Amino acid sequence: MSGLGEPSEGFVRISVVTAFPDLVRGYLASGVLGRGIDSGLLDVSVVNIRDHAPRSERRQIDDYSFGGGGMVLMAGPLETAIDSIADRESRYVTYPSPQGAVLHQELVEDLRRVAAAKRLVIVCGRYEGVDERFVERCVDLEVSLGDFVLTGGELPALALVDAISRLVRGVVGRESSVTEDSFFSGMLDHPHYTRPENFRGHRAPRVLLGGDRSAIEAYRRKESAVRTISRRPELVARAGIMPYLSRGAYAALLHHPVLDRNGRMTTTAVTSADLHDIARACRTYGVKKCLVVTPLASQRDLVKRVAAHWITGRGADFNPDRASAMRGIKVFPALETALAWVRERERSEPFTISTTARLREDSVSWLPLKARLLQEDRPAVIVFGTGHGLHEDVMRSSDAVMAPLSGGGDYNHLSVRSAVSIVLDRFFGFR
Ligand code: SAM
Repeated sequence: MSGLGEPSEGFVRISVVTAFPDLVRGYLASGVLGRGIDSGLLDVSVVNIRDHAPRSERRQIDDYSFGGGGMVLMAGPLETAIDSIADRESRYVTYPSPQGAVLHQELVEDLRRVAAAKRLVIVCGRYEGVDERFVERCVDLEVSLGDFVLTGGELPALALVDAISRLVRGVVGRESSVTEDSFFSGMLDHPHYTRPENFRGHRAPRVLLGGDRSAIEAYRRKESAVRTISRRPELVARAGIMPYLSRGAYAALLHHPVLDRNGRMTTTAVTSADLHDIARACRTYGVKKCLVVTPLASQRDLVKRVAAHWITGRGADFNPDRASAMRGIKVFPALETALAWVRERERSEPFTISTTARLREDSVSWLPLKARLLQEDRPAVIVFGTGHGLHEDVMRSSDAVMAPLSGGGDYNHLSVRSAVSIVLDRFFGFR
């Protein structure tokens, strides 16, 4: 998957194999695709199956389905057609079919990569479809446009060419049009308006008419979130939501108040491995700061010294990547002071989520919480406990408690650094 906010790099090679070449050429000649082909950014050829039929008068490419039924495209002309385009090693053959994997943006991105490395050959079926032996011998991937049946594979083939081509740098004039599109980050696009401002009594949203860029962006992020949650809530699970959180997210690592093995309140010692691994996870998932909480001055000092070694000391020259992660560490004597700092910094009340290995009555599973983060205009602070977990006081005072991570069995004793990585991936992972 390409990174957030980055349209993919250039040049793809695609061939469409069809019994209706004029139909395909007509679409390819116009608009954005036509310009992309003319300017050499796209190499798209159209191959007529009939040109590869046996040299008889009829140039037959189809025949009756064995056992009764309509017409079926014969395997011979199809195989000869694709062999004329490229050998097996340098082609990847896709057959649009209602029985294939349903097309979605990630698959389009995979196929864009394929089409950059090999020639992507798209074979359009017709009538009852194609001889199954052609599929078995030559097809790498069957792709469906959805659970409905079309007359032929030309529309799905064009849909594929179109969707892939938009990802090639330079094909769509304004690159941000691609990165802002629905599904690019896994979310739906915000609504669009153009002139007139007032259309039959319906006004375009006022915020879009002023020049305040940050207000416009905030409005659009909110609209994307609201639309995705209300229209396609299932997308939220896989969406990269961090760019949609107006005030971002923080992780808090508590060494007090946490529980000891007997369930009593205690203070744990800071561990270097936690600091390193959690700082790196936070940096990976775009979490703004890792708030390390310990009431012990000597322990706060230790955290600062470890971080400083990697930020400014010899560690910085040795491993600059580690320095960029360690810069995210900030130390506090209590959770309250950490939250006050976030409140001040973001000018907004933090939305706190406690994590625990135990299921509670008030536990909320991660997916509704992820949707909630999109709806809140507040900085998220996800709180993790060391030792045997967060003290009840912390959970009671947080806005939500996330249901425990579980592999389905009766054991879920993860190290805090493993838990942080998994939770951050659930909330902010980009698939
Ligand atoms: N008998 C086939 C079946 O039920 O699976 C349907 C054949 S359809 C009438 C003719 C051709 O249109 C197919 O071979 C395929 O190339 C294309 N086609 C039809 N519906 C499609 C869809 N939903 N997605 C992709 N291709 C489709």
